[in-house]
Amino acid sequence: MARAFDAAALPQFVRALEFASRKHSMQRRKDADASPYINHPISLVSILAVEAGIHDPDVLCAALLHDTVEDTDTTGVELIEHFGSAIAEIVLEVTDDKSLEKQQRKRLQIEHAHSLSPAAGLVKLADKTANLRDMADSPPRNWDLQRRRDYFDWAKEVVDGVQDVPPTLRALFDAAYSRRPS
Ligand code: ZN
Repeated sequence: MARAFDAAALPQFVRALEFASRKHSMQRRKDADASPYINHPISLVSILAVEAGIHDPDVLCAALLHDTVEDTDTTGVELIEHFGSAIAEIVLEVTDDKSLEKQQRKRLQIEHAHSLSPAAGLVKLADKTANLRDMADSPPRNWDLQRRRDYFDWAKEVVDGVQDVPPTLRALFDAAYSRRPS
């Protein structure tokens, strides 16, 4: 944990960016503009590295890859082959079991939050922060006010369970949550 990001970490980071952009290339976000999906993992990296000053290469690579198993045909084995088990494990920790029904997946995120590793906790915080920003700036067209409020409250419940979050990162989440629609 908490390795520095030096020149040696750059090739793998770029490979993770390439891998994620290829895997997500046919997907769009749910926002009104249907923006390219890859904008989302990139915004996690920006929150972590630029805004929160978190430079651990495994965390930043996992942030790029965090939705590949949940939302594309990528497997855990594939991630291990390409990026090693440390990065793959972080991604799998923040991956929902898509065979479960949506409400159950959301409940499990709350229940599992306290047991996330420190690295997975960082990715989880950045993910929820990015999603709340998107929800405030450009919500899905068909989401009414109550659904958006519920989403903010659910995200906060997940984040409140994550242990040992760096204060800077928590402050970024809290700022995003403060834009809950009223
Ligand atoms: Zn995500």
